[in-house]
Amino acid sequence: MEKNFINTDHKANLVDPFNRNIDYLRISVTDRCDFRCVYCMAENMTFLPKVNLLTLEELYRLASLFIDCGIKKIRLTGGEPLVRKNIMWLIEQLSKKINSNFLDELTLTSNGSQLSKYAYDLVKNNVNRINVSIDTLNEDLFKKITRWGDLRKVIEGITVAKKAGLRIKINTVALKGLNDKEIPDIIKWAHDNDMDITLIETMPMGDIDGDRTENYLSLSAYRATLEKYFTLSSCEYKTGGPSRYYICKETGGILGLITPLSHNFCADCNRVRITCTGKMYMCLGQDDSVDFNSLMRSKATDDDIINLIYQSIRMKPISHDFKIDKYNSQPAVSRHMSVTGG
Ligand code: SAM
Ligand code: SF4
Repeated sequence: MEKNFINTDHKANLVDPFNRNIDYLRISVTDRCDFRCVYCMAENMTFLPKVNLLTLEELYRLASLFIDCGIKKIRLTGGEPLVRKNIMWLIEQLSKKINSNFLDELTLTSNGSQLSKYAYDLVKNNVNRINVSIDTLNEDLFKKITRWGDLRKVIEGITVAKKAGLRIKINTVALKGLNDKEIPDIIKWAHDNDMDITLIETMPMGDIDGDRTENYLSLSAYRATLEKYFTLSSCEYKTGGPSRYYICKETGGILGLITPLSHNFCADCNRVRITCTGKMYMCLGQDDSVDFNSLMRSKATDDDIINLIYQSIRMKPISHDFKIDKYNSQPAVSRHMSVTGG
């Protein structure tokens, strides 16, 4: 399956008009998922026609060209990345880029449902740490939030992953009226099990069955509640992402807060995103995109594609446009998070 794409001819790094160095690429490898989290998807989702999806070979070619342009870290996401058929093939190919020092890190964000099956293969292929999303440790509430998920399977996946040697960071979306009372316990559970945890605010992306404003919890405001349970001190740890990190004195663990709505994080943004159909989004919270699909499916050379990568980076906006309040219950961007992958 492997094809030899030019990948040794390194180009100038990707620097956007606001002097941000872009070295992090997120690839949503599928918009499909085996869960239907209430804040992410409607229960009856219409997914993209399969013919529109880039094949794994096309995704690999595109990723390789981004690596040629200075991308150093790749995160696979989705939808659920581990439900894409033959996903391990792509992971194996990208792992070779780490072996040859073209890429520094390969990682993924997963709902954990398939982790028992894949954890050892991930470790074999240079994936050292992953993010797993869990919004509650209560089985009934887990079913209510994910609609189709099984908490026991996810916990079993985490256990296997830890045995295999994967470091795990938990992602928890903070949901008013659903898991807000439980969040201190989830933090304690994560830290007791040697996992960092990041809390995320709901972002207004894509139509869901309900109204997101009902469950929106401002993490800037919620910090006061957290400080009743934990002594938080700022920590220097940075990923170039939207998280701000704190050390909890009581547990010794790291807590990240992603607050795109109550606190803008764009000044340090180092990332762009590719969807499973080959659309590049320069910003998670804007609708502007560049289509690589038609170029890739024409007779375009690698240089043609690389030129489009540089052009796209010049279009990266300064910041997102998210707003969520009682006057703004409509999604700020029409696509679901599962299309661009969070
Ligand atoms: N299926 C995988 C998972 O759930 O981890 C990867 C894709 S999911 C879209 C990536 C992350 O985005 C998850 O942590 C999920 O909880 C979060 N997410 C999804 N929709 C969101 C929304 N509207 N606002 C905030 N976070 C969201
Ligand atoms: Fe699936 Fe992840 Fe969206 Fe939940 S958050 S529906 S697991 S893509």
